[in-house]
Amino acid sequence: MLEVMDLTKKYGKTLAADHIGFTVPDGRIGILLGPNGAGKSTVIKSIAGLLRYKGVIRIQGQDAGSLEAKRCFAYVPELPYMYDALTVREHIEFITRAYGVAVTEEEVERLLGRFELTDKQEKLGNELSKGMMQKVSICCALVIKPRVILLDEPMVGLDPAAIKELKEVILELKADGCTVLISTHMLEMVKELWDVTFVMDKGHIVGTYPREAVADEDLEALYFSVTGQTDRKEGI
Ligand code: ATP
Repeated sequence: MLEVMDLTKKYGKTLAADHIGFTVPDGRIGILLGPNGAGKSTVIKSIAGLLRYKGVIRIQGQDAGSLEAKRCFAYVPELPYMYDALTVREHIEFITRAYGVAVTEEEVERLLGRFELTDKQEKLGNELSKGMMQKVSICCALVIKPRVILLDEPMVGLDPAAIKELKEVILELKADGCTVLISTHMLEMVKELWDVTFVMDKGHIVGTYPREAVADEDLEALYFSVTGQTDRKEGI
């Protein structure tokens, strides 16, 4: 479970997140949706521990800054970061050792195979394309067997096969009881995934929509109405 309570973040005079609160329960997929500058990255980075903020964030009931929370939490950033001197395989090994998780060779092989990285295992971080880096970053997040996973614009830069695989993986995580939060401004990419959508605008959550209450086609109209945008300005 992921709980965000009263999250406030200012950059100088800019109030990027203003008393934000939401919860994503176990086995549910939450979507953070909003136009450019709405504050999504600020919320994501706060949850991931990359920003100082006011408020309380809990991961599986533990303070997000605690070791207990970090052990069961995975984050896929929008821009993947690779170590130049480590191979793809070494990135996976590094993460599993750092987290102290028991992972079999077969599990690693299967994961790399799912994202078509089997024949890229010996490539160095600086020899990978952007899409390959994104796939390695996803594999590093998955290999720790997280209970809460945060994905920032995860489909951007992936080829169609990888997008399909990632969607399947996300649904498997959900079936396994994992909490998933995806930040995006492309509703189209997550329409078969979402359980609850939080629409952000100007640092606020301006709408919370559980799937049982809102159809896909209505969500788009609600998005435009609560953000005051028109579909001519920015598509979702
Ligand atoms: P996008 O979809 O364009 O990535 P976003 O919803 O992720 O946007 P944020 O990046 O969280 O939005 O930005 C929210 C507000 O905070 C914006 O007004 C932005 O200009 C401001 N902001 C973000 N990062 C900083 C920073 N490091 N310093 C100053 N202002 C910032």
